[in-house]
Amino acid sequence: MLELNTAQIQMGRSAANKLEALALLAQTLSDDGLVRPGYLNGMQAREAQGSTYLGQGIAIPHGTPDTRDQVLETGVRLMHFPQGVDWGDGQQVYLAIAIAARSDEHLRLLQLLTRALGDGDLSQALHQATEAETIVALLQGAPQELALDSQLIRLNVPAEDFDELVWQGARLLKKSGCVDSAFIPRLMETEPLPLGDGLWWLNNEQAVQLPGLSFVTPDQRLERDGKPVKGLFCLASLGEAHRQLLERLCDLLIEGRGDTLSGAESRRTVLEALGGEVPPDWQRVSITLANSHGLHARPAKVLSEIAQQFDGDIRVRLAEEPGLGVSAKSLSKLLALGARRGQVLEFSAEPGIAADALAALQTAVEQGLGETVEPLPVFTEPAVQATVEQALASERAYVVEAPAAGSRLRAVAASPGIAIGPALVRVPQALDYPAQGQGEAHERERLQAALKAVSADIQTVVDSCEEASVRDILSMHQAMLSDPALHDDIQARLADGASAEAAWSAEIDAAAKQQEALHDMLLAERAADLRDIGRRVLASLCGVKPLAEPDEPYVLVMEEVAPSDVANLNRQRVAGILTARGGATAHSAIIARALGIPAVVGAGEQVLALAQRTPLLLDGDHGSVRVSPDEQTLQQALREREISQQRQQQAHAERYKPAVTRDGHALEVAANIGASSETDMAVELGAEGIGLLRTELVFMDHAKAPDQATQEREYRRVLDTLNGLPLVVRTLDVGGDKPLAYWPMPAETNPFLGVRGIRLSLQRPDILETQLRALFASADDRPLRVMFPMVGSVEEWRAARDIALRVRAEIPVTNLQLGIMIEVPSAALLAPILAREVDFFSVGTNDLTQYTLAIDRDHPTLSAQADGLHPAVLSLISQTVVAAHAHGKWVGVCGELASDMLAVPLLVGLGVDELSVSARSVAMVKARVRELDWRHSQQLAQQALVQDSAASVRALVEESN
Ligand code: PEP
Ligand code: MG
Repeated sequence: MLELNTAQIQMGRSAANKLEALALLAQTLSDDGLVRPGYLNGMQAREAQGSTYLGQGIAIPHGTPDTRDQVLETGVRLMHFPQGVDWGDGQQVYLAIAIAARSDEHLRLLQLLTRALGDGDLSQALHQATEAETIVALLQGAPQELALDSQLIRLNVPAEDFDELVWQGARLLKKSGCVDSAFIPRLMETEPLPLGDGLWWLNNEQAVQLPGLSFVTPDQRLERDGKPVKGLFCLASLGEAHRQLLERLCDLLIEGRGDTLSGAESRRTVLEALGGEVPPDWQRVSITLANSHGLHARPAKVLSEIAQQFDGDIRVRLAEEPGLGVSAKSLSKLLALGARRGQVLEFSAEPGIAADALAALQTAVEQGLGETVEPLPVFTEPAVQATVEQALASERAYVVEAPAAGSRLRAVAASPGIAIGPALVRVPQALDYPAQGQGEAHERERLQAALKAVSADIQTVVDSCEEASVRDILSMHQAMLSDPALHDDIQARLADGASAEAAWSAEIDAAAKQQEALHDMLLAERAADLRDIGRRVLASLCGVKPLAEPDEPYVLVMEEVAPSDVANLNRQRVAGILTARGGATAHSAIIARALGIPAVVGAGEQVLALAQRTPLLLDGDHGSVRVSPDEQTLQQALREREISQQRQQQAHAERYKPAVTRDGHALEVAANIGASSETDMAVELGAEGIGLLRTELVFMDHAKAPDQATQEREYRRVLDTLNGLPLVVRTLDVGGDKPLAYWPMPAETNPFLGVRGIRLSLQRPDILETQLRALFASADDRPLRVMFPMVGSVEEWRAARDIALRVRAEIPVTNLQLGIMIEVPSAALLAPILAREVDFFSVGTNDLTQYTLAIDRDHPTLSAQADGLHPAVLSLISQTVVAAHAHGKWVGVCGELASDMLAVPLLVGLGVDELSVSARSVAMVKARVRELDWRHSQQLAQQALVQDSAASVRALVEESN
């Protein structure tokens, strides 16, 4: 991050010319250990290519890309030349900012610096400065403009009370990049100010990135403190940026024209009244930037010079960002965009010059703005957009070769069963479409037709689908298609002249990014759903037809299975699923299991290169795929499939039988659920209790932390349905990568290693206490086990336990156990100490594996290697069990590993007392336990502990079967 401070500045230096100045700067960078001496050559070469004069008496000398290896550390050094140095063309430089940066950091530095520069002219002030503090103040002190544009205004938003309206207003600020997530709860805590005429005002200055103002009106009559609420301003305040706006608003209210705002029918009216950025009705063109280092100083300069040749306003913005963009004539503003290769620049120009200016800019950008550019992987016709996804798809097509006939691929066993059939390889198809539409009404009609067609398709599948979980996903997709908030934004884009395709995809992309930015597991899934439904509508608009299916049942091969792919899945026809990406906890795996379709995931990009209809033999029990198998292998597989199907039927028929090994060792098999409504089904499928109730959903479903009564209702419902079977509840596990909007948290560089789970609960004990109160109050002597997530130290456990004991003193519970999840290696290693104090452990193998192997469990390419059967993970489980049993405590396993058929014998052999798995896996896990011999499993487990890899462990278990 560029942080300017006085220590980086040398005041009162002089240099006879630019070359001498460069030598002084390079020497300083080198003396401070930022670069090697060779960097000077790069700086000189860079000036020879084009001046680094930025404007306002400032130059930003830096090396060429091929001298980046001379950079040791990113940083800047500033040199003040009060007499000025001629930087060429008579441009006097009073301040030189020498940049040492290895790659894209360069652009980021420039972006931050040029944002600080603003519009004024600093050259005289820099010339006269005598103190380093003055320089810092000049560079940092430029006032920032208040953001107020059509993206920040929403009329008639659904809001049932004032809080929801605030929530909507704050979301707009978040969406526009003005504030961080932490702003939302802060704003909700602020006392609102009534302005009269039904208008209200709220402001906050914490977690603000850029000053901005949003305005929302409710879709129904609302009141607050007995006064009507017709419109609400939410200000993200930073410095004095909003002063002018506030004065204008006061004038409006004094003149008695407040109803212009409270009764506004269009966003334009609001913007005109407040002097915000009114969207101009200008011609536009979108061009993908191909320059390898993005829009850095040199190409930006060429671009600004071309724009300056035209007598009229030309604006440019990143197509993916909201707002009206910046003047294409301003070098500093262009740099501040921070545009990277592959990003789409959208230019707009005022009517008089539009045709000529846009054509000139388009040609210049396509020709590289003075640089030689590598064409982008997908060639884009003028005024045609291509998505990064398509670019990736076509790049992949060049490099990856299909696996040879007869080869056997190993990947992740995601859903049990054997599938045989020809491959149907579905890779994302390139969708080209014009950025400009043929009139607002026409485009709106096209979009409506596409939405209707997709919705009807979904309805057909919903009607014929028996799986409640899949029906739920699809119904949610239908709801997304008619989301009023989305449509509001799309209409605005159509009104600005965009094509239906461009408006739809830009809005879907923005909405999905917003969800993803919240780093919340559930919202990220919603983002995937949004992108998925977005692609379907786009395909419909572009007239793309689905691939023809083979006549016989086939194996669907995809990068990842998205929820809407399920809609196209004819379960009679899709024999199996094979994906290039994802691990056992990926969406595709979960969906395949829900549908009972055999699946192997994370097999790598090579499977996407398979020829259509290549015969495949897929083994979802063992995670293997045979390409073009020979007859003998096929016959063998058919026999195995027959046996496997019989086993499943048998297991289902015996689902209520206990899980006892052949030599009489009993285990409990329970179910993992995320909501109270899933309890019924779990019990029906043979679960002997709930081994993990993930309570996050109860919290994520609300705009505020749910109160005790709301939570109590949920927990009581689960206990009632369980009818005396035990319930293991995990206290709230959020934070870090899955924050709650109403729970402010600073952004973290590495959220998986940050404030999450119990760490977060201990920072807000009030929320933990309320949850415990709700749990204890709902227990009524029924078996309740409460466990704390992500415990990594004895102190954390004790602090959480003490809170629980305090609450229990208020609300006595008779049948309570307190335990912890073992998800952090330190907890497993401390098990001998913790076991003295806890009542039980439950091993969360998903996180335990991620932290032991240092592989992000959601990593797109590595997660397949995050195998819980790694001997290191097994060893931690073993230590946990030994420690627990030494103190008479029980151990469960509730991560995905517990439903892996190869893992079951090992977990049993390690002495685990309970396995908690998805409801659908309960019967098979029980059946597998009943087949085992405990003594043999114990020996097998001991052998597994001394293997050298997860693969050897899997081979060991397979051989023993
Ligand atoms: C785990 O980490 O194994 C676990 C069960 O918790 P979650 O998947 O909810 O993080
Ligand atoms: Mg976990």
